Amino acid sequence: MEKKKYICPVCGYDKLKQSPDESYEICSCCGYEFGSCEYYCNSKYPVDIGYEFDYKEDEKFYSYVRKLWIQQGCKWNCSNQMQFKDWNIKKQLSNTGIEDQEIAGLLEDYLYDGPVATFSIIDNIDMEKNYSDANNFIIQKSSVGFFCNMIDFWYPEIANLSTCFNKVSRKEKGLNKSGVTIFPPQSLKEFYKIVDIKTPQDTPQKEKLLKLIIQAQEANKYLIIYGVYGV
Ligand SMILES: [Zn+2]
Repeated sequence: MEKKKYICPVCGYDKLKQSPDESYEICSCCGYEFGSCEYYCNSKYPVDIGYEFDYKEDEKFYSYVRKLWIQQGCKWNCSNQMQFKDWNIKKQLSNTGIEDQEIAGLLEDYLYDGPVATFSIIDNIDMEKNYSDANNFIIQKSSVGFFCNMIDFWYPEIANLSTCFNKVSRKEKGLNKSGVTIFPPQSLKEFYKIVDIKTPQDTPQKEKLLKLIIQAQEANKYLIIYGVYGV
């Protein structure tokens, strides 16, 4: 028999192993650690919620944490699972019990919707490694989440960019929608230009991604993107 799963009151992830009221479990999706508010209290990106909150874990507090998580790109905390495929943020948030209208408002505030793709820098590139294997996923603190519907705007230019699919030895063009895409250092200048010019809104996510591209470029490193779906 399958074990009972619990819902994360912050992000709606529905596969928590323990009840959030009785555990210190860290949500695989939003990264919130139950029974501890340190992570979010120290957040560099506070949102104005219009009231002084205490750190009691109730809906008021969870709604604060939820906003922070959305503002920071709805980043997944786990690094080791095939969670990015078919992920729908709206559907997941509705598990928390908040109304569709409120969810739409929350997402609209940040001009985003839909699944999130995640960018990371590969520190030590392995030319033969298949990075599309779930065990080889690289998610770091510096990873940047980017909504796939924003990626739509990078076309058609992105389709001509020299990239690699799943592993460095497989040279291709554009984005791999059924696997992962690796951007070699020599493509990063052009990629920066596409993101900068074609992304329609100047959002914190765009700013962060541009910074990440520069960081990779300066270190002569490869950049990897997971979870480009529905583009
Ligand atoms: Zn969560």
